[in-house]
Amino acid sequence: MKQGIPAQIQLFKFANKGLVFSQKYQVSDFPRISDLASNSNGLVEVELNFGLENKKIPCIKGQIKLDLSLICQRCLDGVMVHLEPDFNLAFLQNEQQGENLDDSFETILNADEEFSTIEFLTDEILICVPMIPLHQHKCGSYKNPKVALEKPENPFAILKKLKN
Ligand SMILES: [Zn+2]
Repeated sequence: MKQGIPAQIQLFKFANKGLVFSQKYQVSDFPRISDLASNSNGLVEVELNFGLENKKIPCIKGQIKLDLSLICQRCLDGVMVHLEPDFNLAFLQNEQQGENLDDSFETILNADEEFSTIEFLTDEILICVPMIPLHQHKCGSYKNPKVALEKPENPFAILKKLKN
């Protein structure tokens, strides 16, 4: 049965029991992320599966789903970016422990037994946040003339227009 995620992760304890957690947060629950995004009430869905690999290596397999409202660096309007960070982490006491692990694991050395869930999730989300957020499709308009000047139209786009 799934239960809410405690504020502190107790690595060996949770891994030993094979606990599965899921919880819905808001962007505002992650201060370092809500600094970057304007949708502080956006939903953040998290699922964490704890387990022991090779009977002794604690592992966390996790999935996060969220939308962040960022600023498009081309048109400077808001852009909604959907992120689905997932991870499969193995926490090692020494590098030798990792030798028999399969490639799907990302290894972390010398983790504490107990750490903050919010800080841990924040780090996993930040890895996925684009450095330069952009609209996937053509931006609504080049309202800002400065931006328009800096971005001359692609010559191939002009060719395309002529063909039409
Ligand atoms: Zn844009």
